[in-house]
Amino acid sequence: MSETSPGTDSAGSPREQAVLDAVPTGLFIGGAWRPAASGATLAVDDPATGKTLVEVANASADDGRAALDAAVAAQPGFAAMPPRERGEILRRAYELIMSRVDDLALLMTLEMGKPLAESKGEITYAAEFFRWFAEEAVRIDGRYAVTPNGASRFLVMRQPVGVCLLVTPWNFPMAMGTRKIGPAVAAGCSMVIKPAQQTPLSMHALAAILAEAGLPDGVLNVVTTGSAGTVMEPLIRDGRARKLSFTGSTEVGRALLAQAADKVLRTSMELGGNAPFLVFGDADLDAAVEGAMIAKMRNVGEACTSANRFHVHESVAEQFAAKLAERMGSLKIGRGTEDGVEVGPLIDDDQRSKVAELVDDAVGKGARALVGGKAVEGAGSFYEPTVLAGISDDARLLKEEIFGPVAPIATFTTEDEAIAAANDTEFGLVSYVFTGDLKRALRVCERLETGMIGLNQGLVSNAGAPFGGVKASGLGREGGTEGILEYLETKYVAINL
Ligand code: NAP
Repeated sequence: MSETSPGTDSAGSPREQAVLDAVPTGLFIGGAWRPAASGATLAVDDPATGKTLVEVANASADDGRAALDAAVAAQPGFAAMPPRERGEILRRAYELIMSRVDDLALLMTLEMGKPLAESKGEITYAAEFFRWFAEEAVRIDGRYAVTPNGASRFLVMRQPVGVCLLVTPWNFPMAMGTRKIGPAVAAGCSMVIKPAQQTPLSMHALAAILAEAGLPDGVLNVVTTGSAGTVMEPLIRDGRARKLSFTGSTEVGRALLAQAADKVLRTSMELGGNAPFLVFGDADLDAAVEGAMIAKMRNVGEACTSANRFHVHESVAEQFAAKLAERMGSLKIGRGTEDGVEVGPLIDDDQRSKVAELVDDAVGKGARALVGGKAVEGAGSFYEPTVLAGISDDARLLKEEIFGPVAPIATFTTEDEAIAAANDTEFGLVSYVFTGDLKRALRVCERLETGMIGLNQGLVSNAGAPFGGVKASGLGREGGTEGILEYLETKYVAINL
């Protein structure tokens, strides 16, 4: 059994209160914090205790329009700011984030639930996008070329897309924001961002840091709302914003793509996943288990990159499952603010019910829980780290995103069978491959239908790499040299000499 201590109510310690008191709770529009025009507020709850931490402004469609007006007004001046200055704003913001990592981590843990060590990890990862794009801001280039017939010349230039609309989810409250804000600032785009209603505080803290770092008023506007569709749809359909970048579920992404079609907005979509984790018979099994712990348990499984299903060669499946179950069963569950806690709560009871439903479905179809298999009783939305063996082909969790600490293990016999199973999904974000055979590794990587692959490692996220998916997992890439291109238009001039 996992060691558990959930439900202990240490909320409200003086340090926690100080961190909460320091975060702005209004809407950030035109460089100033203000209440919603209606005065409405929205409660932000601690998922480990269910208690309300703080109330934040709850924007209406009018507030959203005011944010767009501010972004539109700021756009031309910001596009004209020298790239070096835009880069230096990001660099200062990076330094400020890193100098406050402990307080920011506590804030994130309070609103989202993940253990403090993971919050610190996310904040460092989030800050890396600012450091990376600070360096990219001064490397926006174009080209000059002779036409094939030699008679004239091509000039290709890159310019900011214009005003951007950004929407982020609750699972990585800061990194999903910096991955969009970093390249937008580097490229010279102003923006309206809407964080998830369950985790707005990290974004508010980030906006305050960017203002302190010198970001001009109106370049970044933050609207937190309990009515995402009511506020965002008019902005998407308005026509003054030229780009929509969304991270969240495929279901909402599809709806936003349809809305963006009307004004033909540039879109970047980071959507759902269903990552396969393949372990071949020639793999280093301890390394595979280590990788599995990272790929499965980062963010308690509430990650688009989370290993959703394990396909293990029949010769090593039993051994792999036993080792994984031992590791999963020894994790300490509890409120993320407590020492030594490795598994926090799920974001809310609805998410926990969905995880429980998927596990019950698999068990009803013949799966066996080697460890875990049920919700943790008491306060907070906790679910036990779970390993399931004997998964039948029709178990729902092979097809649906689990978003929880559950590792279903299926077996395969041949390489072809493993690849067919891995690709048998509408999603295509990431896959993981563990093998000791270089030729097999390259063969399998070429045939997997995902935008990213972790080869003998359980983590792919890196600010310097192009993050993104294929198929129903999305469009476009965030991070890497590709990341800034999403915020730049290409203009070509034909020159008659
Ligand atoms: P979600 O329900 O799609 O919500 C994501 C964001 O969209 C939230 O800010 C949400 O606001 C907003 N939203 C919801 N309906 C909207 C609408 N009609 N118009 C405009 N905005 C709307 O997803 P989630 O449950 O928060 O996040 C989990 C999903 O995100 C998973 O599927 C995960 O795989 C995916 N994800 C993907 C990546 C990636 O890079 N590919 C990264 C992280 C997460 P509210 O908070 O008000 O609902």
